[in-house]
Formats: sequence, structure tokens, C-alpha cells
Amino acid sequence: MIRGSTALVAIVGSPIAQVKSPENFNTWFANNARDVAMLPIDLQATALGAFVDNLRGWRNLRGCVVTVPYKQALATQLDGLSERARALGSVNVIRREPDGRLLGDNVDGAGFLGAARLHGFVANGKRALVVGCGGVGSAIAYALGEAGIASITLVDPSAARVGALGEVLGNAFAPLEIATRYRSLEGFDLVVNASPVGMGDSGELPLPAELLETLNATTLVADVVTSPEITPLLQRARERGCPIQTGAQMAFAQLGHLGAFMGVTPLEI
Ligand code: NAD
Repeated sequence: MIRGSTALVAIVGSPIAQVKSPENFNTWFANNARDVAMLPIDLQATALGAFVDNLRGWRNLRGCVVTVPYKQALATQLDGLSERARALGSVNVIRREPDGRLLGDNVDGAGFLGAARLHGFVANGKRALVVGCGGVGSAIAYALGEAGIASITLVDPSAARVGALGEVLGNAFAPLEIATRYRSLEGFDLVVNASPVGMGDSGELPLPAELLETLNATTLVADVVTSPEITPLLQRARERGCPIQTGAQMAFAQLGHLGAFMGVTPLEI
């Protein structure tokens, strides 16, 4: 029940009907007797500036989760950013301070690592292949860097995106080895698809089928795609005996990070 006293959080993007955060958060708020509710907002791009002004003045709003396509645009309009959000140039969560200032963070990578930890993955000293160097791939690569990974190989059809992410990682994590070439998947401890390839019923693989034959059974294979839950990549990896991590597991592991940043849940939920 939303009452006059209810504190609000929001999730903004466009489209918005597909997002799972409102039901996940509202279930948690109800089960834990919190007088807080999450509203989905499908925002037209032309209203973004006015929206930010409204967030500053919206006194019973604690924060706002940010999804596609506003993660980059909103990062330029806030009053403060975490170090990782500044380095990545994107936010996926905003906290409204009591004085109206808006602070941004990006916890996509923290969610990914939290889920990977549940699979026993420890990044320190390991080697990872990150396929897709857009918003989410960059956040995952940055979190791996923060966690002390030894080597990251970047793959993306856009050379500009590979170059930009390589520069961000190189500036932030000096000892990190950054590569763009590889012949086999044998040497990787983690292979993650951070591109939309495999979404829906496309049946597409983000890496050539013959290359997937070189996967070690000990490699953690992860996908950010949430639908289908078991993507064609995860299906192949499972057939090779690899541990797999789904996009839904990553999304779920983010909830506590998003809620804690907005001050409406503990970190572990
Ligand atoms: P984006 O558009 O910023 O980046 C996607 C990148 O993938 C681009 O750089 C593109 O060039 C690259 N790409 C496309 N085809 C490729 C291929 N064949 N091989 C390698 N790279 C390829 O998008 P984004 O915001 O990073 O989102 C990516 C996906 O992550 C989306 O499907 C989104 O739904 C999903 N996502 C999942 C979660 C989660 O918690 N599971 C969170 C956020 C986003």
C-alpha cells in the first residue's frame, strides 16, 4: 500500500515495462514491513533535463535506479559521482541527499562480481575474456580490475569501444594486462558475454562454436542476457561441464547494492 508517508524510489528508462526491479524491490519492502515503494518511469528523452530538476526537488524520493538508454546521459547531469561511475561515464543508480543533491554510482560490476563469488570465483590474479565493451561490459571489466584480476582480454566489433575501455582500465589499474587477441579459450578462468547477442530466440552465439570447444571445464562462463535464462552460450558451456552464471543471477545480486546506495535496503538482501 502506498500511503502519504511512503518514501519512494524509482527506476527510469525507456521502455520500462520489461524491468524486474519494481517487483523485486516492492516484494522485499512488503516482506520486510518497510514504508517504501518503487515506481517505474518510462521517460521521453526530451524530458531528461526537467526530470533531473524534479529529482532534486522531490523531497519524499530517496533515489532512482537508471536503465537503458539513460545511464550515460544522466552521468553528466548529477552533482557528484563515485570514482567508478566517473571513470565509466555512466550511472545505474542515483541517491537523493536530504538537501536535494544527486549522487550517482554504477553497481553493474559489483552485482556481476557478487554473483560470481557465489560460484566460488575469486578474481584476484585470474584471467578473463570480456565479450562486449559497451556499458555493462565496461562496468564488469572495471569491477574485475578493482578486484585484482591479472589479465583482461577485450572483444567487440567496435574497435573504438575496445580502445576506450582499454584506456579506462589502463589508467585505473596499472599492473593489469589488457589484451585484444586470443586464439583459444583454454587459458581463461572467466568468459563473460556482456553483449546482447543471444537475446530472445535468436539462437546466436557471441563466440564461434569451434572456439567454444576449447573451453576448460573449470572456466566460469557468464552471460548478462536475462532472456532466455539459459542462453545458447550458457547451454554450450554447460554441455562442456563448465560452471555457468546467468544474467538473472547478476541482476539479482545487484539489488542489495542498488538498495543500499539509495539507503532503502541493507547490502545483503
Ligand atoms: P551497449 O549497447 O552499451 O553495449 C553492447 C556492446 O556489445 C556494444 O559495444 C556492441 O558493439 C557489442 N557487441 C554487439 N555484438 C557483439 C558481438 N557479436 N561480439 C562482441 N560484442 C558485441 O549495451 P549494454 O548496456 O552494455 O547492455 C548489454 C546487455 O546487457 C543487454 O542485453 C542488457 O539487457 C544486458 N544487461 C544485463 C544486466 C544484468 O544485470 N543481467 C544489467 C544491465 C544490462
